[in-house]
Amino acid sequence: MEKKVIPHCPICLEEMKVGQEVVLDGTFKGILHTDCSYLTLEEVEDQGLYEEIIRRNQRWLKQFNHTIMH
Ligand SMILES: [Zn+2]
Repeated sequence: MEKKVIPHCPICLEEMKVGQEVVLDGTFKGILHTDCSYLTLEEVEDQGLYEEIIRRNQRWLKQFNHTIMH
């Protein structure tokens, strides 16, 4: 098996999983669980299910490309 780098929520330190509600931090370009988010609406760049966020933001999430969906 390939070695995988799985994004973790920086707040609760849990692995991000498909189907979870997450928000995209527009400032630091990180992903947080919606429930863990401390961001204001202005700071949230995108919001939705983890896999949708990854798919919509491939350009700057390239470092995670090999983690899921392939
Ligand atoms: Zn979390």
